[in-house]
Amino acid sequence: MGELGPEGTESSLGSYLAALTVAWVACWTIDATACDPIGTRRLPADTSILAVDPSQGASRLNPSSRSLLVALVLPLLAALGAADVKRLGELNTSQIRALDRARTVVLLPGGILEEHGPYLPAWTDGILSERMTADLAQGIAAAKKDWTVLVFPQVAVGASGYNEVGGHFTFPGTYAVRPSTLRAVFMDLASELGDQGFRWIFVVHVHGAPRHNRVLDQAGDFFHDTYGGRMVHLWGLLPVVSAWGKELESLSPEVRKEEGISLHAGMDETSLLLHLAPELVSPERAQAPVVTGESLKAAIETAKAADWPGYLGSPRLANAELGGRIWKGLSNAVLDHALQTLDGADPTKFPRFADYMEKNEHFAPWIRAAEARDAEREAKQRAWLEKSAGKAGR
Ligand SMILES: [Zn+2]
Repeated sequence: MGELGPEGTESSLGSYLAALTVAWVACWTIDATACDPIGTRRLPADTSILAVDPSQGASRLNPSSRSLLVALVLPLLAALGAADVKRLGELNTSQIRALDRARTVVLLPGGILEEHGPYLPAWTDGILSERMTADLAQGIAAAKKDWTVLVFPQVAVGASGYNEVGGHFTFPGTYAVRPSTLRAVFMDLASELGDQGFRWIFVVHVHGAPRHNRVLDQAGDFFHDTYGGRMVHLWGLLPVVSAWGKELESLSPEVRKEEGISLHAGMDETSLLLHLAPELVSPERAQAPVVTGESLKAAIETAKAADWPGYLGSPRLANAELGGRIWKGLSNAVLDHALQTLDGADPTKFPRFADYMEKNEHFAPWIRAAEARDAEREAKQRAWLEKSAGKAGR
């Protein structure tokens, strides 16, 4: 599966043994991530294909055992005819031209730099998107034996940081683009892919703001109406996001009361990071004060305080086990909706998260205020461009 040549996967015993030898030597002498097919190499956590929870110190495999497993499992999957996973950025023109468009799924991972309070990294949603793409690639590869999964590099722009919910439009850690900019980026990429004959695209862009999700849905609808293919913003599907909440239902009433309506960087999201990238979670989160509200309205009011720390919920309650359960639910829901789409389901029939949020009256003031702020920003940029064009005589 690490092979990037146009010949694709191999299926003979000889090829398996050859691949096994190469992978074994590579993994043993370099690093287990040398065999990682789609770019989780920057992250320390193990890929889910081995079902190892990195937070469980005692059961974590040591690097050489992990190398052995990766070296054995990946060539075996290739020998069994599992789909190919390729990184687009590593292919040349001949290799891209050779891809069978009807049996190639493009995964387009996004990422937003967004403040997540004092205990989580600003790239939290980017990490979630990257890892979800990795899981999805593995899942599709296992289910669609004669397909190619083509993974884009992460498109590191997103819109509408959650800090806007309480009216904080500038916050350290948030570097967002306007929703119209984000839509233009994804519509342009959709056009490039569509013009080159690609027909199956899944966007994996984990971030909960209504306007962010709306424009990514629109880019997908544009692709379908223009090229006849499918481009689905998987995180924008309500049944996917709901998988997050389902795991919280089993928590005790005391825990749920303390967490309140967490919305952003609370117990649940901190748990996800403890599961996926524990070294990036500040140990100070164990003493994190509770910052929440019992209802959505109350939580949004809390976020309006001048000294709001950038999160809602109770990060001190977070744990890796809960994060692992939430992750599994999310990852399964993402894969399930992707496979349903590849098998012919109409993804426009899946309920959308953006519709749900836009209908909620408590989000309306946020949406209106953010639109006004964007209009101001656009006017400022346009004025500068016109002035500068005037100076240059253009
Ligand atoms: Zn987040």
